[in-house]
Amino acid sequence: MIIPIFIMNRGCSRRCLFCNERMTAGERPQQITEAAFRETIRACLRSAGRKDGPVQIAFYGGTFTGMEQEEQQRLLELASPFLREGAVDGIRLSTRPDEIDAEGLDLLKAFGVTTVEVGAQSLDDEVLLRSGRGHTAADAVRAVTLLRERGFETGIHLMAGLPGDSPDCFAQTIEKVIALRPDMVRIHPTLVLRDTALAEAFREGRYTPLTLAEAVDLCKKALKKLTNAGIPVIRLGLQTTRELEEPDAVVAGPFHPALRTLVESAIFLEMAVSLLTAAGPGERAVTFALAPADVSNFRGQRRENIAALKERFNLADIRVTADPALPRHMLILTAGSRQLKTDWSDRITESRREDLHADGVHGI
Ligand code: SF4
Repeated sequence: MIIPIFIMNRGCSRRCLFCNERMTAGERPQQITEAAFRETIRACLRSAGRKDGPVQIAFYGGTFTGMEQEEQQRLLELASPFLREGAVDGIRLSTRPDEIDAEGLDLLKAFGVTTVEVGAQSLDDEVLLRSGRGHTAADAVRAVTLLRERGFETGIHLMAGLPGDSPDCFAQTIEKVIALRPDMVRIHPTLVLRDTALAEAFREGRYTPLTLAEAVDLCKKALKKLTNAGIPVIRLGLQTTRELEEPDAVVAGPFHPALRTLVESAIFLEMAVSLLTAAGPGERAVTFALAPADVSNFRGQRRENIAALKERFNLADIRVTADPALPRHMLILTAGSRQLKTDWSDRITESRREDLHADGVHGI
């Protein structure tokens, strides 16, 4: 559980082309008083009830390490009592890569910060330049390396579809991120938000955002690669706020309140198509088995995947079995006497019922 405290662009050396914190964080006060801080934390702890997992206070929405050291210290001191009394387990924050240095990290360590999320956005210098970020890919590499050396849990924020980006360029960024071995990644397809320089560029025809289908495709490939590399993607797409839902808040771009669901559904559709293609024609009724948590993503919104598969492969019936013994992201097809399985690695193997049991995987 993360309790976010938004610092609203504080510490930012510049306003990035795409950034509108009021939209993405919601309307928040500029100054964080001790009373407001304590009340926010206590209210979140009360409403969350019993702790199911680690609880962290998170300073988001600005460049934490870009603020004056006294202000960083003041905010961390507000969080310290909650950490000392065990009400929370850690402190996390987000910041720019060019505002991370060894001295600053010593301060964070001293106050119990456990996790730092680095707003890299892209690891391509041309994209960073055209997006007005004011730092280079090397800054992000240096920041992540320093954080990992100092024992911080490290996250990387990425954006798909920034000015100058392309599918190849984004794929290369993902490969570079994998080489850096962060503990987690967040990916946000670029949105054109009201009151930003990007909105101006869009109106003047200097910027074309991704379509939703393009964003889903880029995120699909990135999610699979990162997951296969053992790097969790903890967020795909912006969290919706009331401000983001205002009628003219998103000027253009691939906004969807449940982007991750769309992306995972697209992955399962692709997997099912691969399995049915490998199984070949002949059967009019087939069964898919998968982990219970994956079933709704497999079916797709309004069962779109099921309808698409029936039509494409001329199937009369598709049964879906939720098997708690199966791991997440695995899909097993039974078509007649054949059983084929795949997962997010895209490898397809054919197994007899006994082989599946031998693997520790239930037969269907
Ligand atoms: S550094 Fe982050 S919070 Fe600051 S302006 Fe850029 S995107 Fe917004």
